[in-house]
Amino acid sequence: MQTPTLVIKFGGTSVGTADAMTRAVSIIADLHRKWPWLVVVTSALAGVTDRLLNEALQAAKHGRTEALEAAEAELFSHHHSIIAELLPNELAWPVEQEIKELLSLFVSLVRAIAVLGEATPRALDAVASLGERMSTRLLASACRAQGLAAEAVDATQLIVTDHRFQNAHPDFDATTKRVRTHLRPLLEAGRVPIITGFIGATPEGITTTLGRGGSDYSAAILGATLPAQEVWIYTDVDGVMTADPRLVPQARTLAEISYRELSELAYYGAKVVHPKTVRPAIEAGIGLRILNTFNPQHPGTRVVREKGEANSQGIGAVTAIRKQRLVTIDGRGMIGIPGVAARAFGAVASTGTSVPFITQASSEQSICFSIPAENVEHVLPALEHAFALELANRDIDRIWASEEIAIVTVVGDGMRETPGVAGKIFSALGQENINVWAIAHGSSDVSMSLVVALADMESAVRAIHRLIEEH
Ligand code: ADP
Ligand code: ASP
Ligand code: MG
Repeated sequence: MQTPTLVIKFGGTSVGTADAMTRAVSIIADLHRKWPWLVVVTSALAGVTDRLLNEALQAAKHGRTEALEAAEAELFSHHHSIIAELLPNELAWPVEQEIKELLSLFVSLVRAIAVLGEATPRALDAVASLGERMSTRLLASACRAQGLAAEAVDATQLIVTDHRFQNAHPDFDATTKRVRTHLRPLLEAGRVPIITGFIGATPEGITTTLGRGGSDYSAAILGATLPAQEVWIYTDVDGVMTADPRLVPQARTLAEISYRELSELAYYGAKVVHPKTVRPAIEAGIGLRILNTFNPQHPGTRVVREKGEANSQGIGAVTAIRKQRLVTIDGRGMIGIPGVAARAFGAVASTGTSVPFITQASSEQSICFSIPAENVEHVLPALEHAFALELANRDIDRIWASEEIAIVTVVGDGMRETPGVAGKIFSALGQENINVWAIAHGSSDVSMSLVVALADMESAVRAIHRLIEEH
């Protein structure tokens, strides 16, 4: 029989203060008694990744580094405040030195970026990776201070990725081999590895990152390749909730959610787990749970293949993404042109833009889809280039982008079987005078997305949430 193996992941707030880290350490100690093979993945301390990247981007933009020393000092003092509270002197000193070294690397990288006046995705990944490289060293020492045989490990040794910096894709076969040779021996020796979330490396060893919020994905990748029986994501809320509690105070924790629902929810903006986390877990048949570091007794949310009868009625949860714009390609002459959609999405894809929402009028006179607002400046020229001939011939009248809009997504396995859900949603929005600009059913028919004006987003989410509350 396989040794019971559990991967747990702590988010930034779960390790962001001395109090939080104390809780994280006690969770680790507690779980290690029950799970002989325990792998810990951690994010950078809350706010650190933003700060690191912000300095790098400012340096690239303005060539200035005046604020760099202040940033270095603040980042040091954030880590130091935890070290001072949690570590005895003999453990404090070595970890302080390591953090100082990582921060001087940060300073050198940002100075180089300022000189070049450009921050390449590769350079940004080198900078962004430092947050996790610091937090793992700190958390490992805090565990050792409590008598645990913990060891900081950089995932650059374990997670092998392609060269897509800032959004790297793991090579599962290569990663499995590394996990066997580098991680299993630590576990066999009774150690608790404390592994950097968010980062990996190309086969040649150049640091990459898996995308913002990617530490959840790191945990799933390690869980799938070990393999572990379970992956538990520790965050700052009691689990996956019916809506973002910051937007809807009445939101409640879901005891169960299906893999499909969680995928859709995460993809459409619920920050609680990274959208890529779900797939490796399903494929490797691994149990997934979302739990609260600050309330570890709470059972949290269990992610399941099929939900029990009691939890599978109607709408399950609602989420939203802002900062999107709708792009429309209009033209009566489009009816006759073959492959317009394929060419349009090919042009969009060539800019590296993802398209979360697509609708097409049945008359084929227009295609409409949403893209992140910041990509419009690349996408419109790409489309104009792809359809230069059709625009010149007036087969396509115009290609244009709307103001910023929001996509509100309603998720629920039971929606298919529950008659009248769409009607209820529309009347709830109608009562609030919210106009729906476009709708689309999610690919897996457990979700429905609605485009609303940005200004209506919050009231739309709350209006739909009232339908969940009534249930
Ligand atoms: P971590 O640092 O632990 O990765 P994140 O901030 O990335 O934490 O994700 C947790 C946050 O996700 C919560 O504090 C909450 O505000 C937000 N959130 C958004 N939608 C949901 C939801 N449906 N359920 C739970 N939390 C959600
Ligand atoms: N620290 C990284 C970020 O802020 C990864 C994570 O927190 O999951 O994006
Ligand atoms: Mg997160």
